[in-house]
Amino acid sequence: MTCVICLNPGARVVSGGVWQEFHCPDCGSGRVSGELLNLMTLLNLELDIEPVRRWVLERRRSDPLPMMQVSDILLCRDARATESVLTQPNPL
Ligand SMILES: [Zn+2]
Repeated sequence: MTCVICLNPGARVVSGGVWQEFHCPDCGSGRVSGELLNLMTLLNLELDIEPVRRWVLERRRSDPLPMMQVSDILLCRDARATESVLTQPNPL
């Protein structure tokens, strides 16, 4: 399966039911809560790769498998922002 963060196809993703566990050669290992994943789908958000990787590195000092929760929503960005910059009509 592809990484939930960077979509690397070399990652291993385990669904734990209420969370997704990821082991990615680029992002490291951790978990994303199902609640956060649902909210991301609802709001059309995606995980922002660089901040998430920094977050994982930081958290892994004290937790081998840190979990991103709804309270970590600031690690997300608008999924449309990356793809529609060039195609969106100018609002003015
Ligand atoms: Zn990754």
